[in-house]
Amino acid sequence: MDTLRPQFWTLPLTALTRAEWEALCDGCGQCCLHKLEDDDTGEILPTNVACKLLDTGTAQCKDYRNRKAYVPDCLRLTMRNVADQHWLPRTCAYRLRAEGDPLPSWHYLISGSRETVREAGISVIGRVICETEAGPLEHHLVDWPDAGDQQAFGDWEA
Ligand code: SF4
Ligand code: SF4
Repeated sequence: MDTLRPQFWTLPLTALTRAEWEALCDGCGQCCLHKLEDDDTGEILPTNVACKLLDTGTAQCKDYRNRKAYVPDCLRLTMRNVADQHWLPRTCAYRLRAEGDPLPSWHYLISGSRETVREAGISVIGRVICETEAGPLEHHLVDWPDAGDQQAFGDWEA
């Protein structure tokens, strides 16, 4: 089994081992939600509508290994393509590190607990609806907290 180096999350993405890359994910599930794009501004507008393969109770993909058979456009994030994925939530650990920002205090690698991702309001667990039940995406626009939004995390950090 691969060993994770101490503080590996402070290293450049290109220096990470495969195991460290995988461990960087906070498990929030936000990348598995549908987004809309504003035609005029190009702004990415998040929704609370989940991919049909997302387990909305755990924020995990129900069949990650075979997901392409069901969701052909599901993207596998890699060191090569991560910098181009501007639709990723601003809280995404890969996006933060690709932009040279540190992981936030609620990230499980910093806090030592996966529960803090949920307590900080970042996890989609229990807050999303499956695409098979949702209806028009326009009816499901939501605001997810920003990585640096201290007010949103106030309850958890108090
Ligand atoms: S197929 Fe799985 S990993 Fe891909 S978007 Fe859907 S739930 Fe997420
Ligand atoms: S948004 Fe980023 S950190 Fe959250 S589950 Fe997706 S890849 Fe992992």
